Amino acid sequence: MNILIKNVRIFTNDAQDTLLENQAVVVEGTRIGAIGPEEELQARYPKYRYIDGSGRLLMPGLVNAHMHFYGTFARGLALRKTPRNFHEILKELWWKLDSALDLESIYYSALVQVISAVKHGVTSIIDHHASPNAIDGSLDKVEEALALLGLRGLLCYEISDRDGREKCEQGLVENERYIRKCQQAKVSEPDYLFDGMVGLHASFTLEDESLRRAAEIAKATECGCHIHVLEDSVDATITRDRFGKGVIQRLADCGVLGRKSIAAHCIHLAETEADMLAETETVVVHNPQSNMNNAVGRADIFELLDKGVLLGLGSDGMCADIRPDVRTANLLHKHDLRKANAGWSEIEKMLLKNNPKIYQRLTGQLIGEIKEGYLADLILVDYWPPTPMQGENFWGHFLFGIVDAPVNTTVINGRLIMHNKKIAGLDEEGIAAHARKCAEAVWKRFDY
Ligand SMILES: [Zn+2]
Repeated sequence: MNILIKNVRIFTNDAQDTLLENQAVVVEGTRIGAIGPEEELQARYPKYRYIDGSGRLLMPGLVNAHMHFYGTFARGLALRKTPRNFHEILKELWWKLDSALDLESIYYSALVQVISAVKHGVTSIIDHHASPNAIDGSLDKVEEALALLGLRGLLCYEISDRDGREKCEQGLVENERYIRKCQQAKVSEPDYLFDGMVGLHASFTLEDESLRRAAEIAKATECGCHIHVLEDSVDATITRDRFGKGVIQRLADCGVLGRKSIAAHCIHLAETEADMLAETETVVVHNPQSNMNNAVGRADIFELLDKGVLLGLGSDGMCADIRPDVRTANLLHKHDLRKANAGWSEIEKMLLKNNPKIYQRLTGQLIGEIKEGYLADLILVDYWPPTPMQGENFWGHFLFGIVDAPVNTTVINGRLIMHNKKIAGLDEEGIAAHARKCAEAVWKRFDY
């Protein structure tokens, strides 16, 4: 579909944080075709579908750099035993929930979050999936949910040895199959919405052989690995006890790190481990809401950025929207350091510049900027600035206004997915009802 969006303030998210007024944006096919004066573009493209933004803010869609769609059915689940620490949270909740998922519940877990993403202006998600009793084809099910609306996704299956060698091997096969499927699709359709990478749970649930096999697949498919790293000190303690070395050293030795790999969390880094992440150019993703929820500590985002690590922001399954994590990141570091000026430009960089950069580096997809030739992932936000807004103070408006402003329109890959807060043809109530049925069945299978 070709669209012309006019009567908007445009935050382009270029290096200068340019804010344009009295300009329009033209979407041609999957890409941004032109940006220029409204009257000129209207004259040039008289037959395109007009969208009048009524003075709203038009900006690039947001990226969530670490998510778990599969966690949806934890919502409202009552545990018999209250976990007292991170390892118990994994054992009592997440490893029991993922074991209870079948292909249908995987689809509905994802679909509920996909709808939420579109409604909240998130247009690309990097997901990390686990379902040890429904591994084969699980990534296709996640993809099916994304495809129903047209959300962009970079998917992987989280391998682990916690359920035995065979399931780990199945997980590796699923990752490789899915990566190759996406690569094949891109041959005929370069702007195909989906990509794959190799997922791994965390080093303390993986044997050396599994780490090496994952790295081999990543190398063979020219992809990276996506793994939880030092989210809690238990990762370091078990790794040290069993393998006699630090987590980062072990991952480096097995070939898991690298410029296309994501290390999520990186909270409990020992001295020199941040340097190793920087040297290997490994991407790190910070997940502040989840870290606070699990009471696992705070990543030193300042050290990581200082050392040149490409650091992004994720929600780790807390929600599909990334904006609550933007606000949390801003508050967490200030509060923890008792330093009112900590974490301003850093959080801005992580969300607006680094998240799209991570997505581009890992998939080759040109997103995150309103620029001719870029993929048309755009959101129209109900934000009419109540105080003067220019490019240089945009972040102040984002952090204290846009962060919770409703999203009116979402365009992904040039497709108008949501307009005037309506997603065409979507029976949200019916989907939720079906999801509840799936959740009931999952809760029945849940090993309390
Ligand atoms: Zn995670």
